[in-house]
Amino acid sequence: MSDDTGGTSLHGEGPVALVMDVGGNWIRVALVTPGGDIVWRDRVPTGAQDNGQAVIGRIESMRDAAISHAGGLEIAGIGLGLAGPIDPETGIMYNPPNIPGLDGVSFKSLWENRVEWPVMVGNDATLAALGEYRYGGGVGAHTLVYLTVSTGIGGGVVVNGRPLMGANGMAGELGHTCIDIHGPICKCGSTGCLEALASGTAIAYTARRRLPEGDGSMMRDMASGDPAGISSATVFEAATLGDQLSREILDDVARSLGAGLVNILHTFNPDVIVIGGGVSLNWDYLQPSVRAYIEEHTMSHIQKLGFRLEVSSLGDDIGLLGAAALVWQSLP
Ligand SMILES: [Zn+2]
Repeated sequence: MSDDTGGTSLHGEGPVALVMDVGGNWIRVALVTPGGDIVWRDRVPTGAQDNGQAVIGRIESMRDAAISHAGGLEIAGIGLGLAGPIDPETGIMYNPPNIPGLDGVSFKSLWENRVEWPVMVGNDATLAALGEYRYGGGVGAHTLVYLTVSTGIGGGVVVNGRPLMGANGMAGELGHTCIDIHGPICKCGSTGCLEALASGTAIAYTARRRLPEGDGSMMRDMASGDPAGISSATVFEAATLGDQLSREILDDVARSLGAGLVNILHTFNPDVIVIGGGVSLNWDYLQPSVRAYIEEHTMSHIQKLGFRLEVSSLGDDIGLLGAAALVWQSLP
């Protein structure tokens, strides 16, 4: 059932952070050193369609497995990254779209008197930004923006080593900045959001909708004649092979991403922007058009000051490393 990477308990100096990354698909758990070395890890499917008690039970049994594997290592604290809106003070989750059973749940108050370590929680995208700042492309940055482009688009902002939370912990909803007021309806209820135009979901949806325009598009054959079989990966593959319709679709996606990044540059004046998520795997294809858009539309003084724009190197570990960064940063 789980993907345990080690059989026996660990020995050594410690300390380690016990960290968990709870997403719509996986509950990941790990023991992480202050330097970012993952000394033990495991994961199980979230089973997000189950009721809250079942999901909480799975999370707690993974936590307990980590405690027993820590063996002789000192645990410094527990860090939890959770997919969904969360109050950073109380730890209460509000209508997490991908794990609905955790609505209203606070692991902070749930565990406070039941474990001997401090419990710290955060939104997964905010923590990913913190992970990039401490362990990834953002080391040494003053203002770092992390943008994840996946089934949805999310983000986090770190200023001077601290996550920018906003008044209620909701800052950084970068996927829901408006790119086109006449654009498609977004799942947040607004119109023409970056997520509705450039997420993996949006890329696949646009390709399915526009397929009738492209009589000769190879995407039809690649999806065995069924438009429903087209994914964002299909669109990138066809474009790489020279398919006209998929190239047009991705040109628009690159311009939308460019516009989103220009908004980020004008709003936060970051010195580093890190792109993560599944769509970033095709960054080589998108990058030239995205950069061209940014060059054309960003205020010249901000361009002159310069900034780094790069793809995340932390892969699937970003959630765990982000939660570890939160633990190490929060301890005296
Ligand atoms: Zn939206």
